[in-house]
Amino acid sequence: MSVSAVVHEAARSFDIEGDLVSIERYGSGHINDSYCAAFDRGGATTRFLMQRINHRIFKQPLLLMENIHRVTTHVAEQLSDDPDSDRRVLTLIPDRDGLLCHVDREGEFWRAYKFIERAHTYDTIQSPAQAFQAAKAFGQFQRMLVTLPAPRLHETIPDFHNTPKRLEAFLRALGADPCNRAAEARDEIAYALEYQALASILTDADLPERTIHADTKINNVLLDDASGEGLCVIDLDTVMPGLSLHDFGDMVRTATSPAAEDELNLSKVRMQMPMFEALVRGYLGSTADFLSAGEKTLLVDAGKLITYEQALRFLTDFILGDPYYKIAREKHNLDRTRTQIALLKSINEQEDAMQRFVDRIAASPS
Ligand code: ATP
Ligand code: MG
Ligand code: MG
Repeated sequence: MSVSAVVHEAARSFDIEGDLVSIERYGSGHINDSYCAAFDRGGATTRFLMQRINHRIFKQPLLLMENIHRVTTHVAEQLSDDPDSDRRVLTLIPDRDGLLCHVDREGEFWRAYKFIERAHTYDTIQSPAQAFQAAKAFGQFQRMLVTLPAPRLHETIPDFHNTPKRLEAFLRALGADPCNRAAEARDEIAYALEYQALASILTDADLPERTIHADTKINNVLLDDASGEGLCVIDLDTVMPGLSLHDFGDMVRTATSPAAEDELNLSKVRMQMPMFEALVRGYLGSTADFLSAGEKTLLVDAGKLITYEQALRFLTDFILGDPYYKIAREKHNLDRTRTQIALLKSINEQEDAMQRFVDRIAASPS
């Protein structure tokens, strides 16, 4: 499918020498519109990844770009001795006025990165080895950002992982029940209420604020085609202050179950121990030297908390008539709630074994 003149114009607005030879939609991201643009200069082709930023979700694109610029610059400095450094961190290309993003005539915000060649993302995890690589890469990313100088990054989505606030929002939605849907979700509501003490387990634990990625899905890490190594953490829109355990918890939520987030057959939803073990080994392998003892002991709780939080978010959206998450079928958000609850139950059943594993690896990470 050919792309519009506005997209071509955007591609030419960046500080890239040479002729634009092709541009096409790229990747499977759900948030931004991504394009791969190829430029020719003296017979050599160089590719760039351009993105139209979704400013309906990210209301302040300029602040978001400031975060990304600070983070990628800092990580690049940490990697300066690495011969492959420009494949291990995203590199922003400014526009011809030296700005971090380009605003087109429709008022849309664009950014461009160097294209990282010979690497790919995977939408679903294929093996514990991939889980290990992703967790290691996200851990390294957090580690390199421990030394990020002040000031604090902007909160691109305020209260993103403020689970007590998510619980309040759920209770408010339940109280209002504007679409008369609560009756259809009786069991799920009962479960959410029964486990509400979970909402504050991390906020009550007095953990240090850190710089986190906040969208630690497997398809936000580029894996090297040749070695399978977790090469580069991408998709930095949500990089912000948070708890290290929010990132780890979201890895547990998104990587340990083989089922899709909206799977109807709940017997397919389960926390797979080999995936969890690979995540713990990968993550602690790169973070053990800076995480506090408190953070290390709460890795399992983090998985429970983030899964609970996501259940609350889907359930709240279902009760309110689906204002946030797009739906493709009736009760889609209720189905999504059910998978999160099924995963939480599976974690609860295996919690003791998970904790024993964490304690063992935390005592000697290698
Ligand atoms: P999500 O739905 O995860 O929020 P998104 O819409 O924010 O995704 P990204 O994850 O930033 O989009 O990018 C979409 C895809 O483009 C990635 O999965 C990856 O395959 C590819 N990609 C992104 N940046 C680069 C890059 N610098 N080099 C090569 N490929 C890239
Ligand atoms: Mg992504
Ligand atoms: Mg994204």
